[in-house]
Parts: sequence; structure tokens; C-alpha cells
Amino acid sequence: MTEITLTRPDDWHLHLRDGAMLAGVLPASRDFARAIVMPNLVPPVVTAKDAAAYRARILAALPEGQAFEPLMTLYLTESTDPADVAAAAASGLVTAVKLYPAGATTNSASGVRDIGKVMPVLERMAEIGLPLCVHGEVTDPEIDIFDREAVFIERVLAPLRERLPELRVTLEHVTTKDGIDFILGAERNLAGSLTVHHLILNRNHLLVGGMRPHFYCLPIIKRERHRAALVAAATGGDPRFFLGTDSAPHAKDRKECDCCAAGVFTAPNAMPWLAQVFETEGALDRLEGFASLHGPAWYRRAPNADRITLARSEDPLPAPAALETGAGPVIVFDPGIPLHWRVRA
Ligand SMILES: [Zn+2]
Repeated sequence: MTEITLTRPDDWHLHLRDGAMLAGVLPASRDFARAIVMPNLVPPVVTAKDAAAYRARILAALPEGQAFEPLMTLYLTESTDPADVAAAAASGLVTAVKLYPAGATTNSASGVRDIGKVMPVLERMAEIGLPLCVHGEVTDPEIDIFDREAVFIERVLAPLRERLPELRVTLEHVTTKDGIDFILGAERNLAGSLTVHHLILNRNHLLVGGMRPHFYCLPIIKRERHRAALVAAATGGDPRFFLGTDSAPHAKDRKECDCCAAGVFTAPNAMPWLAQVFETEGALDRLEGFASLHGPAWYRRAPNADRITLARSEDPLPAPAALETGAGPVIVFDPGIPLHWRVRA
């Protein structure tokens, strides 16, 4: 196959940042019609008022001709007001609420320490069917970084699901077989998003032969058997799994430094890499489900009306250049293997 045409995809987990970085990276999401936009700004997007203001800044930064709908989220804190969340959902402003365990990743200091304190919000969300997007890692310093997702499932997510089975939960950027198996074992109200880079890289890519700061993200890249489980889930056709790139731009000097920031910038080439993963697995016929259909079904929206075409070239395409932004250059995801797919203009 040399071409494949799909319903235009959406990105169900995206970091757009703010200010000059927002303006610089927004055009890079042009393959996607919609994206769930993460609220971990400084300060975070906590209230409906914050979300409306952030949405207006995103729309103002959109280049002429780019049709893109930001789907807003609220950052769950221990003082979030259930009534504010319900009103934001009812007005259509907000698509989900995001749970960051305090300290789990970039700008998550205001996150949740004690899940008991946010139960009134979660109960209200369960009533109205508003999904909770979860960064599924514990932050207990005693827990090894490679085990934090599995321990989160055991200590936090499984008990929460038992306590509030009506709550619709998206376990975001699943990185382990444990996460995949937990989702597969649930009868309802649980889905998982998967990133492109976790489908391609294992921790050897990150750590062998020199440490690669541009592969450093959270949850951290895991060992090969986990990557294989993610690929099987993505390409297997199960509607509970869909694309959320977690594209997370940082200026080059925040990545190539003494204490590298977490995040991989995949927005510009997510779809080409995804096509290559699905081609390798002999599953190109399932790419549309994963990238364009399962996510809208879970978030109770219609799939996009327009389509995109991906084309395969025999010769590998040139490696991407850094994206220049007003906040500095951002290095584009490059796993260092030949890429044969591109989105046809
Ligand atoms: Zn993220």
C-alpha cells in the first residue's frame, strides 16, 4: 500500500503551553481537527473562568486557515468546586477534568495529594458523565520510577473504580502491560490513550549508549515487553484504546541541560510515525479506528467530517528540523530510524 485515507484524526492528549510557545507549536497540530488540551500551565487552569480565558488565547493564536477545536480540561485540585465543574461541563466549555497526583510531572505541584479530598467533585462528575483524565503515577519517593504506573493502578485507580464505578476514567498515556491489562479487565467506564513515542521506544533507546534527553518523558519509557503490549493494544482494534500524543514541547535549552524537563514533542510527525507503526504490524486497516474513531466514541462526539491522506515513499524522508518558536527552538521527535510516511498536503 502506498496511500491510506482516513477520517481526520484527533489528539486526545496535547500540551500547547501558553504565550510565545503556544503560538509557535499550535500550527504543528494541523493534522488534527480537535485536541484535549492539558491544563498544567503556571498557574494551572483550575476554574471554568481559567478554561474560557485559555481557550480564547488558543483561538487567538490559531493561524489563518487552521481549523482546530481545542477541547478544554480543568486541573483538579483539592479545592476544586463541584458546582463550577458541573457548570463548565453543562455549557460545553469543558470536555474532561484532569487528575495529576501532586508532583507527578511538569507543573503538577498543585495536584491532588489525597483522593478522598476530591471525592465530592468526582461524585458529581460520575453523575453528569464527565470523564476524568488521569496521569496514572504515584509520587511516593519510595516507589521506583519504572513501577509508578503499576503501583498507581493498585493503590489509587483500582480502589477509586471500586468506590465510584460510574465515573468514566481515561487512563492517559498508558506505558505498561499492567495498564493495558487493567483496562482490558474493566467491563465499562474505563479507556486508555496511547502516545506515539511509547509505541516506538523502549528504555534502551532512552538509556543505552548515552542518555537521550529528547526521549525523556513522564511516565518514563518502559522496557520492551511493555512497549509490545502497548503496540498490541493500539493495533488490535479494541475501541477502548485511542491516540493521545502527549506532545509536550519544551525549548531545547530546557531539554539539553543539567535537569532535563519531561516531554517529547511529537505533534508535527505523530501521524506519519503512527502509520509506520501500524504498517509494521500489518494493521494499517486499523489505524483509522485508533486515530480517528475510538476517541470520539469515548468522548461522545461525532467523528470528523473531513479526511486526510497518508502517503508512503520508498525512500526515507529527511529527519525533521527543530521547530523555531518565539520561546526558542523545540526539537521534533526523531527516533533515529528511517521514516517512510508523510501526510499529503
Ligand atoms: Zn501530558
